Amino acid sequence: MLKNIKYTFLSLFTVFKHLFIKSVTLEYPEKKSNLPENFRGKAVVDGCVKCYTCLKVCPANAIIFKDEQIEIDMKKCIFCGNCAYYCPKKAIRMSHEYELATDNKHDLKLLYDVSNEVKENV
Ligand code: SF4
Ligand code: SF4
Repeated sequence: MLKNIKYTFLSLFTVFKHLFIKSVTLEYPEKKSNLPENFRGKAVVDGCVKCYTCLKVCPANAIIFKDEQIEIDMKKCIFCGNCAYYCPKKAIRMSHEYELATDNKHDLKLLYDVSNEVKENV
């Protein structure tokens, strides 16, 4: 019985104590944390020359080429950053966009047109 009372007061004290301690959590989505410069979010493609290096270095097989488009499947992507690191043209970069939640799995297939970039480099 005494033990129960002791722990009840201890927990109340803990709650009370935290009223005066700066919160370590953020009121998301109103407030967002500062991301480190090397944060790896959604992959973005711009300036691809279709060398297929990213295709070979992706450990999750998340990248495929369809006609004149590159498709990155964010359901498969493990955000390792290999594609961005090994791209000789730095055409893929890992953006700071991390809010990828969706109720439609097809939204997670990112399609980027690579036809223009190819024509420029022919
Ligand atoms: S994104 Fe980069 S590595 Fe991938 S095919 Fe295009 S140029 Fe090559
Ligand atoms: S970040 Fe890694 S897993 Fe995701 S597409 Fe690039 S290479 Fe593939």
